[in-house]
Amino acid sequence: METLEFQSEARQLLQLMIHSIYSNKDTFLRELVSNASDALDKLRLESFRDKDMVVDVDDLHVVIESDPAGRTLTVRDNGIGMTREDVVRLIGTIAKSGTAEFLKQLKEQQSGGASDLIGQFGIGFYSSFMVADKVTLVTKYPHAEKGVRWESSGEATYTIDDVDDAPQGTSVTLHLKPADDEDRLPDYTEPAKIKEIVKRYSDFITWPVRLGGEEINSRKALWARPASEVTEEEYAEFYRHISHDWNAPLETIRMQAEGTFEYQALLFLPSQAPMDLFMRDGKRGVQLYVKRVFIMEDCAELMPEYLRFVKGVVDAADLSLNVSREILQQDRQIQLMRRRLVKKVLQSIKALQSSRPDDYAKLWGEVGAALKEGLLSDADNRDAILEVCSFASTESESELTTLADYVSRMKDGQEHIYFMTGDSRVAVEKSPHMEALRAKGFEVLILTDPIDEMWVDSVPAFDGKTLQSVAKGQVDLETDEEKSANEAKSAEFSDLLTWMGTSLADDVKEVRLSTRLTTSPACVVGDAHDMTPTLEKMFKAMGQ
Ligand code: ADP
Ligand code: MG
Repeated sequence: METLEFQSEARQLLQLMIHSIYSNKDTFLRELVSNASDALDKLRLESFRDKDMVVDVDDLHVVIESDPAGRTLTVRDNGIGMTREDVVRLIGTIAKSGTAEFLKQLKEQQSGGASDLIGQFGIGFYSSFMVADKVTLVTKYPHAEKGVRWESSGEATYTIDDVDDAPQGTSVTLHLKPADDEDRLPDYTEPAKIKEIVKRYSDFITWPVRLGGEEINSRKALWARPASEVTEEEYAEFYRHISHDWNAPLETIRMQAEGTFEYQALLFLPSQAPMDLFMRDGKRGVQLYVKRVFIMEDCAELMPEYLRFVKGVVDAADLSLNVSREILQQDRQIQLMRRRLVKKVLQSIKALQSSRPDDYAKLWGEVGAALKEGLLSDADNRDAILEVCSFASTESESELTTLADYVSRMKDGQEHIYFMTGDSRVAVEKSPHMEALRAKGFEVLILTDPIDEMWVDSVPAFDGKTLQSVAKGQVDLETDEEKSANEAKSAEFSDLLTWMGTSLADDVKEVRLSTRLTTSPACVVGDAHDMTPTLEKMFKAMGQ
């Protein structure tokens, strides 16, 4: 037997669980059943791919056993199991992206909101320690010679040991804290309590969950049930199961296609950005099922990267259970389906915008920067994406504006949608480039996300109005009279301009008289096709 130490982040999370700041302790059972269900999905899939694997897949299930006298509760599955290395890596450390950030936030927010934060993070297996003072896990991976027993009381260390006769799959046994301790825990060994929790949180799990020989979940796939019969709470629980986000979703989207290529989709928009939204190895959210059988998660073929915050399930009736990513990539039906899913998601966001503006604003604040990536990568849907974008503008200090609203406020004689990119609102507002537009009373969009630098060049126009940077080229704000007056002035100053042009030849391309400025004496402008200073900085930062 070996005694090992938890990695420090894991230890911190365990301490949080033991001192249990999260008020809804029932959720530990949801986490264990959810893990068992994942393990069964994985085994089924492996057995498809690996014909040499000697496993029994005829009766895949989850069993819950309770022992009131010994005060233990066991959740057992005959799924994929774990190797010794898996156990050390998956249970002893926390590799989840965002953990460090999460713990930091938690420290900063000592009081009050901590339980909300933990809700967002989703702590999985460790939530066992909210209700147990010791946890024993026994597991066997099909190809491994021996099984493994892992045990811990949630303090600094755990023990790990070989087991000769471990059955297929994993069992997790909780040695429950006393029912009448200061936390006033309910009696989790009581069948009625167990049933109630499973019904509430795990009813849709596709594998049978058994208690005392009785199947206690209805196993109905939500996406296959009539929309009118599914409650918000059921959707929310399902969302939590697939997204590992403990918040309720902001919006639920259902789709159904019949005919030559049948599928059903159940998608969710989050009320909070996934932690890994801007991380390199971040996940996409859509799982693929074929006729109610889980096939893969993180299915890039179903949802483009810029919509990676959309979570959900697509269940296609006409695919083979053996379908691989390679096949998906070439399948025309899949491409059609993806196109329809994207359209539907964008339509749903648009609908939110008009029917629930506050929710739309929340969504935009959380995921807008990701959505804007689509302006670059998804030319087909550019207009639809532009319609659901919001931007800061000189019109208001606090409110964002849509492009449609900007256009509705355009002044007589204003031909373009003006914008300026920069590091911050303050920097943009101070820029001399803004002076002439301010003088004219023209509104200017203030674009300060790094991604803004990238897409503005690929979006020529909105609603027939070209997008025009106020910092580039000749911003044409003059009437004809003003123009001829200016030409006369230029002629008058031509000697000076030539002299300045020659003296500054190393630094600038041209010196010209400007009508943009009202209070500043001079400003440097980029050529129409030059990079903006911010973009230049970005490329430099990337080492180019
Ligand atoms: P998550 O489910 O979000 O990955 P958990 O803390 O719930 O996080 O579980 C961590 C990992 O431990 C899982 O991803 C899985 O690989 C492994 N695991 C947990 N429970 C089981 C189980 N019953 N069977 C097989 N693997 C499991
Ligand atoms: Mg889990």
